[in-house]
Parts: sequence; structure tokens; C-alpha cells
Amino acid sequence: MLIVMKPNASEADIRKIEELIKARGFAAHISRGKINTVIGVVGDKVIHDRRIFEAIDSVQEVIKISSSYKLASRIFKPEDTVIRVKEVEIGGEKIAVIAGPCAVESFEQLESTAEFLSKCGVKLLRGGAFKPRTSPYSFQGLGEEGLKYLKQVADKYNMAIVSEVMEASQIELCVKYVDILQVGARNMQNFNLLRELGYINKPILLKRGLSATIEELLMSAEYIMSGGNRNIILCERGIRTFETATRNTLDISAIPVIKKLSHLPVIADPSHATGLRDKVAPMARAAIAAGADGVTIEVHSSPETALCDGAQSVYHNQFEELYNELKGIAPIIKRKL
Ligand code: PEP
Ligand code: MN
Repeated sequence: MLIVMKPNASEADIRKIEELIKARGFAAHISRGKINTVIGVVGDKVIHDRRIFEAIDSVQEVIKISSSYKLASRIFKPEDTVIRVKEVEIGGEKIAVIAGPCAVESFEQLESTAEFLSKCGVKLLRGGAFKPRTSPYSFQGLGEEGLKYLKQVADKYNMAIVSEVMEASQIELCVKYVDILQVGARNMQNFNLLRELGYINKPILLKRGLSATIEELLMSAEYIMSGGNRNIILCERGIRTFETATRNTLDISAIPVIKKLSHLPVIADPSHATGLRDKVAPMARAAIAAGADGVTIEVHSSPETALCDGAQSVYHNQFEELYNELKGIAPIIKRKL
């Protein structure tokens, strides 16, 4: 952080800032220019709130240099993080494909989709047992029963399970069944939940909040990582904009931006981003072409009767076609599927 003093700042003003910096455990490097004096704040930690200095009358400007997140940052760890779950690697050369219904509705529904996906070559099965619904009257998920179905089906087809944990009290139950715990968009800043997930040793799929900046997403990853759990997969799932043609707006540029800022794997969720099944494949292709390490896709054997997110769930045959298209794109960008 650099603190630029106003041209008329007195020696006493400069000393006051210096003392404030030192009181916070940092060193102050003062460089006196012809017009402005600039004070550099140096230390191992980060001062998160630059307004502490901005609010002081003698200060002209505060310039942030280092990021507020360290563990999630590429400066801290230049090489890509590769997360291993069963036979799958996420963040490595291979593109990861997570697929399955929005919610686990019944054993039969889950099993038919998993059987199909497994034949396609999918190794990561998604399905929500705890559903964060906008309306309290909508289907809320089967809870532990849903987790049991996931486990039975995933074991049968040798798949790994991705499922959402909505609150800290559900973590103990979820870790018994789930291989990758998902934190939904609405919970991206549930700091109590994030903190608790830092203490477990299963990967976390952290979805970007509806109105969250990239920095806020990375700060949420930092919350989990600061507890010790370094296996975080970030997910761009569309953000809220003024556009109403799609459910959300898939921020494709977030993918290369995050890849540069962080070593963590980044995947895209074109299902929740668009809300429309015919837009899922084009956006999945775009995300992979833009450098995403994978995609998560909602697939349903009978989307018209789905209890949750049917309109954005693709039919089995549409998924198969998309999967083959991604196989074609992968080598062009030096990846595999
Ligand atoms: C989901 O993955 O089913 C889900 C609820 O996603 P999001 O939190 O991104 O809305
Ligand atoms: Mn959904």
C-alpha cells in the first residue's frame, strides 16, 4: 500500500501516519518528492481497509498494491493447483466435467442419469440433497436420503459425488457421503460456513455469488484456505446484470482473469448462468475455449418433470453431443478430455 500525502502536508502529519503504520506492525518507507511525500507500507500481512488512511485530512490518495488474499494468489503459489478426487484430476491437463441433475429427486431418477453419464465417460456426478431455493414453498431437497442415493449410485458407477452443503451443521453429515462439497452462490459469503470448511480435508467447489466481484470470490476462497483446506475449485456461474434474456450473465472474462490472479482451478456453470437449456452448450464451449478447467452441467432424463431447474437441464442426447464437442475443442487448446 502506498499513501500519497497532500502537497501541503506538514512534517507532523507525516509522522502521524508513520506512527499509525508502525502501530499496526508494519514498516513505513518515506520518500519525499518535490510536490508529494509518498509513504510505503511494508509488511508480511495486509492492511485490508485503506479507508483508515483515506479518511485522514492530510492524505491525498491511498494506492493498494498487494492483494488482500495471499493463499489463493498466484504470487504466493505460481504453479497451478491440481485437485485429485478418486481417479479425477481437476486443474490439470484434462478438462473436468461434472454432470447430473440439479436435485436428487428419487433413486430411479438419479440412477438413470448416472448410468447414462457414466457411459459417456463422466466421472463426477452432481446432485443437490440440500437445495437453497428462492421460495420456501419449492422443493428443498431430500436431505440425508438424497445423500444416500448419491452414494449408492456413485459407488455403482465408480463416480465421485459433488453436492451442496448449505450450513455448518450439515458438514459432518455431508463429508460421510460427498467427495466434493459445493458452496452455492447464495452462500459464498457465509463466513461461518467457509471457516468450518477450512478444517475438513475434502475439496470445496466454491461458486461465485450473484453479485460478487472476482476479488470477493477470491477472499471467500482465502477464508477456507486460511483454515488449512487448500483444495478449492472456483466456479463462475453467472452474475446478475441488467440483462433479462438469460437467468444470469456468464462472465466468461472472469475465467482468464481468475486464472491469472490465482493458482486454483476454475470451472464454469453454464446451466445456472443462462437458465435455458439451448444456451448451455454454446456457453460451455465458450468457457472451455476461454481456459476453464471444467464445466458443471445440469442433466435430467425428463427435464419437463424435474422438481428443480428443469428449464436449464439438458436432455441426455444434448449432453452427449456437448461432451463430444468439448472433446473436439480440448486438443486445440492443448488440453484433453
Ligand atoms: C446448484 O448448483 O444447483 C445451485 C443451486 O447453484 P448456484 O448456487 O450457483 O445457484
Ligand atoms: Mn440448479
